[in-house]
This record gives sequence, C-alpha cells and structure tokens, in this order.
Amino acid sequence: MFQLKKKSIPLEEISNLKTMSEKNMDYLEEFDVFERGGGNNTILVDWVLGNTCDYSCTYCTPNNYDGSSPWPTLAVFKNLVNTVSSYYNYRNKIVRWNLLGGEVTVWKEFSKALEIINNAGTLNNSVSIQSNGSRSVRWWKKNAHLMSEVLFSYHPEQADYKHITKVVNTLFSEGIDNVSVSVMFYPKLEKLCFEAGEYFVENLTCGNRVGMKPLQKTLGTAETFEYEDRVRLRMQHIESIDVQGTRSINLGESVNHIPQVMYWVNTTTGKRVYADTNDLSHSRLNHWKGWDCNIGIEKINITGGGILVTGSHCGSEENTFGNITKPEAIKFPTKGQVCTWDWCPCGSDIATTKYKKHIRWIKND
Ligand code: SF4
Ligand code: SF4
Repeated sequence: MFQLKKKSIPLEEISNLKTMSEKNMDYLEEFDVFERGGGNNTILVDWVLGNTCDYSCTYCTPNNYDGSSPWPTLAVFKNLVNTVSSYYNYRNKIVRWNLLGGEVTVWKEFSKALEIINNAGTLNNSVSIQSNGSRSVRWWKKNAHLMSEVLFSYHPEQADYKHITKVVNTLFSEGIDNVSVSVMFYPKLEKLCFEAGEYFVENLTCGNRVGMKPLQKTLGTAETFEYEDRVRLRMQHIESIDVQGTRSINLGESVNHIPQVMYWVNTTTGKRVYADTNDLSHSRLNHWKGWDCNIGIEKINITGGGILVTGSHCGSEENTFGNITKPEAIKFPTKGQVCTWDWCPCGSDIATTKYKKHIRWIKND
C-alpha cells in the first residue's frame, strides 16, 4: 500500500485556525424548488462500511479511522444488498450504491463485496466508491470492472498526488467514465494543496474537473476553516479549468455522478438555474431549514454501526428505520421530512430535491 510519511501538524495549531459560519440567505427568496437534474428514478444509498483507515489525518476524527466499527461479514453484506436492491428495483428505482469508510479498499473482503453488489437486483444498479487512493495501481486495475464511479480525495498530510494521478488515469483507461479527484484543502498545507491541484489539472486524463474542497473544522459540521480571498479565488480558478479527457459526460442530466447535479427553480417564472453542490458549500448556500426535503426518498444512509437512517447529517434516532443485521425488519421511508437543521453539510444530502412549501411528495410505492 502506498503511503508517505505524515506531515504532522499539532492539534493546538488547528484549534487556532479561524472558521467560517455566516450564511447567505438571498437566493432562498428567489427560488422555491431545489431539484435533481436527472429525475427521481434513483435511490442513492450512502453506506459507511466501517471505520478502519490506513491514514490518520489531523483534521479527521478518530471515529473515522480508528477501526472501532468493524467491516460487516460478507453474509450480512449480501443479505442487506439483496433486500435493498429487491425493494427498490421492484419499484422501478435504480440503486446507486456509494461505499464509504474509513478507507473501504483496506477491507480484505472488499473485492468479494463488490462482486455481490454487481450481481444483485434486476435493474442496472451502480457502484460508487470513495477512496483516499492509497492502494496500488495494480489493485485498482484488477478491480476496475467492479466499479461504476470512483471519487478520490487527496489528503495532503499522507498521500502522494503523483500516485493518485496514475491510479485515476489507469481507471479511466480501464473504462470507468466517471473518476474524479478532490483536494482536501488544509490551510496549514496551502502550498502543497495548490501544488497537487495544479499537478492534477495538468496530468489527469479523466475529463473531470478537479475539486478544491474547503475542509470542515470538525467532520460532519457546517463550519469550514477560513480561506483568505486570494486563496479562495485560486481554489475556484483551479476548479474552473477543464481537464483533458477523451469521453465527456452530460453532467447536467446525468444520474451517474455523486453528488448529482442540481437546479434551483422558480415555479412561478419557470427560471431554472444550475447549482453545483460543491459551489453551494464554497459559497455557504447550503441551508434549507423549514423546507420539505426528499431525503429518505431519494437517498438513504447506512451508518458505520449498521443503522439505516435518512440523511447522513440529519439522520437522527427518530429517522432510524432498520439495521443491516435484520434486513427483513427494515421499514423503508415512504415520505420525506421537513428540514430542521441550520446547515446541510454533506454533498449527497444536499443533492436531494427540496421544496420551499409543501408542493408534492414523490411517492415511493
Ligand atoms: S483518509 Fe479520510 S477517513 Fe482516513 S483519516 Fe483521512 S480524512 Fe479520515
Ligand atoms: S439537513 Fe437533511 S433535511 Fe435538511 S436539507 Fe439537508 S438532507 Fe434535507
């Protein structure tokens, strides 16, 4: 496994970094629907398979990498995959599995788990993986046929951007159309983050633009570190550069992209405006308190403890609807929920349809 020596930053320095939390409310006045570009015939299943990771990034929390939530057994995994695929495919919904960790590729049964998902269900379900890219080029090449999409995060303390570039280009040449990279922009390693972003832009061949992600101060919260204007502008510039690629995807109406592309809509005037979920987080436009939200209908979440909840951020106990060890007892959600949260920090939670007023619920059965 490829791993560089960690460029360690003491925790006390992090606590001194400023954070940003102010909101921008203007756009909420203009639009009354926030909708998916590719329609509603898919269900996204974000599944945190376990919390073992080969890295221990300073800005991460131990419950994301310390191994305290073990990977499921293959028998549990298979039962859950079959139950979820059958339920949604029967209702004509494609399941889009999005597998997260920890670092999923360090699970020694992971290749077998991917084979199980690829053989489940009656519709053309898809498998997306989120990874730090540390496994060897050989490993990725061997398993490429089992994945529909891979989202890599570059973590500047421990990862090697040249290695990730080789992995991404290999997967793309193996036929995976949607492979992307985001730089986890840690302000303390600004120079290295820009160096990596610029290297990706110049050397990737996957056709997907490079993400320059503002980091949450504590994972799962809304507050990001503060980025000076010159830094923010340079990040946005890198994100705006087209990366060379031989295949292009119509992201606007594609469902094969995580997070899915979204649009702001004014149902009175018919105005419809493209909304990139990364930009929403950048610009602090990610809050829908009081709106009706299709979380639970368009997306569900499975926690590292094996609990099924609606949103990754807002999936509180009252929104629990099953456990992976008892798939026969799962009560799948049939309606969405009113948002009671100040912020919606998770990209795939953001990418669910939301209505300013109760216009309609999309029925699930
Ligand atoms: S790679 Fe991801 S899960 Fe692992 S320590 Fe870093 S931020 Fe946490
Ligand atoms: S926090 Fe939950 S309910 Fe609120 S907008 Fe996000 S996904 Fe929807």
